[in-house]
Amino acid sequence: MFELSERLNKIPKYLFAEIDEMKKRKIQEGVDVIDFGVGDPDMPTPKHIVEAMKRAVEKPENHKYPSYEGLLEFRQAVAEFYERRKGVKLDPEREVIALIGSKEGIAHLPLAYVNDGDYTIVPDPAYPVYYAGTILADGIPYRIPLRKENKFLPDFDEIPSDVTKKAKIMFLNYPNNPTSAVAEKEFIKEAVDFCIDNNIILAHDFAYGEITFDGYRAKSFLEVDNAFEICIEFNSLSKTFNMTGWRIGFAVGNSEILKGLLKVKTNVDSGVFQAVQEASIVALRSDDSVIESICKVYEERRDALVEGLRELGLNVEKPKATFYVWCEVPEGYTSIEFTKKLLDSAGIIVTPGVGFGEHGEGFVRFALTRDVKTITEAVERLKNIEL
Ligand SMILES: *Cc1c(COP(=O)(O)O)cnc(C)c1O
Repeated sequence: MFELSERLNKIPKYLFAEIDEMKKRKIQEGVDVIDFGVGDPDMPTPKHIVEAMKRAVEKPENHKYPSYEGLLEFRQAVAEFYERRKGVKLDPEREVIALIGSKEGIAHLPLAYVNDGDYTIVPDPAYPVYYAGTILADGIPYRIPLRKENKFLPDFDEIPSDVTKKAKIMFLNYPNNPTSAVAEKEFIKEAVDFCIDNNIILAHDFAYGEITFDGYRAKSFLEVDNAFEICIEFNSLSKTFNMTGWRIGFAVGNSEILKGLLKVKTNVDSGVFQAVQEASIVALRSDDSVIESICKVYEERRDALVEGLRELGLNVEKPKATFYVWCEVPEGYTSIEFTKKLLDSAGIIVTPGVGFGEHGEGFVRFALTRDVKTITEAVERLKNIEL
């Protein structure tokens, strides 16, 4: 009776319905399912941030509509955070805006810069929002493969010149979900130069910029020369401070690009609850030990899982960043078949790589959002099945 819009119909169907169904059945059968599917931290928000929120919510001035771009003090706290953590200087008045989670900003960016029939360039496999946001703006997402043999970095030479000419935005995401790959300066420079040469907005999703291990430091794209000419970087408190439910993120970088995004936002939302911004100021100004202790937990889990999977003969890299382990599927399975096998014979849930795009085939993603004890139990279960 009510036909969905053509653009909504173009967004790919949810791939995991069948797996969700299997999961439900297993739970009904009384199986103690271990779920490595969810990319949502299992740890609570640090206490000092929750306490700051309690104080902020009591203040009547925080009950009103916030400003569109975010409190100046929040934007100043973002600038301090970038300088302290990445050595990048930002003008809080022009080069920072608050977002209702980075997903919101990523999804809205194409509405600001993409016309009917324009291209965006999106990685494959990837977080689905780059693709969906493009479709909702009547754009055409052009997928570039991330291949293992290229360390899951795209090769810009593979993009046809007619696509490059009509491309408005290129989305990239390092440290990467789902592959957990990282980008070094040389690659970032290449991406910046490619986008400058072709007048394409470089939209970098830096959601995992602080979730790093073994002393590794992830690079902001804004650390590279000339990046401010074309780059907008999306960042978030969600993963850094276990705040996914709070809905706060931010975009930084080229002030003109930010202005376009803000123009969309002033027409569709009314900013981030000011109490959440005040608590986020406290979060961003936390001692660095807060982030270190969060990373330490994921690092221990990573070691337990990667070592366990390797003992089972699975081919898996030890990630330097993100809370994902991207594991090769053994010979003879597709990623969906292997996912079903793990669920059926061991009660273990993972995400099939193909759910992130066709080039995710051949891999499954484990999220490190379960404790070491549970990970050890999962590895024990896997030892008892034929892979
Ligand atoms: C979790 C995640 C985000 C963050 O989303 P928020 O809206 O800030 O909670 C962004 N990009 C990727 C790739 C993610 O995995």
